[in-house]
Amino acid sequence: MLDFNNVTVVLVNTSHPGNIGASARALKNMGLSQLTLVQPEQFPSGIAVGRAASAVDILERARIVDSLQQAVADCGLVIGASARSRKLPWPMLSPEQAAGKVIDELAQNKVALVFGREDAGLNNDELQLCHFHVQIPTDEDYRSLNLAAAVMVICYELHKAGLVKCDIVSKGEDEFWDQAKATGEQVEHFYQHLQRVMIAINFHDPENPRQLMQRMRRLFGRIRIDVMEMNILRGILTNIEQKIEQKQKIDNT
Ligand code: SAH
Repeated sequence: MLDFNNVTVVLVNTSHPGNIGASARALKNMGLSQLTLVQPEQFPSGIAVGRAASAVDILERARIVDSLQQAVADCGLVIGASARSRKLPWPMLSPEQAAGKVIDELAQNKVALVFGREDAGLNNDELQLCHFHVQIPTDEDYRSLNLAAAVMVICYELHKAGLVKCDIVSKGEDEFWDQAKATGEQVEHFYQHLQRVMIAINFHDPENPRQLMQRMRRLFGRIRIDVMEMNILRGILTNIEQKIEQKQKIDNT
């Protein structure tokens, strides 16, 4: 697992202690541990403890400071989460890009992920203390997430990017599949075999083919069948042919 000790989530001037607790929980769920509170309105708080569930340790170790400037004083990368685009455009990142940047830089830099007030977000001075802004894509008509939900989305992206970095997440189906994909030639043989059998059982009329074979090609093309699966299907087709032959022999005697 990646070590996120160099990453702190900064909550600025939070008014609802429940949001502080829920944010602590989101941090812990996603493997982060450092929480900084800039002038929280109510803290410590039993409500925060209740919402933190098993992440109380993060609340207990939270650093409390007087200003955002103080919170980011030792940080080499500061990313501010903002629901709105401001008048002065600032370098913007998507949550995925922000997570990628943090992962790339956290070995060299202390990193702050900054979240604003429930009612008014981050003010312009605070936004300008950030190197980048990150906006979580939402429905256009309602962009403002609950503070702790926004913390969760960003921490989740970070966690996912960390898993990829550590190669824990599978690299995609194709890299761990146990069998090679059937080749074009193998698949062609299969289609010929399938067509033969479908004719033999009177399912397919070559005089009136409709789109049957095209549809079969499209079906198996979508699946990208592997060699073993292809052999199984070929085996089934062969057994059908054998049964037909046996039946014909019996009928002819
Ligand atoms: N009404 C405020 C939003 C406050 S929500 C405003 O318009 O700015 C509290 C905090 O959650 C925000 O300051 C921001 O840090 C974060 N947040 C909420 N929605 C977000 C979004 N869509 N993208 C990024 N951050 C968001």
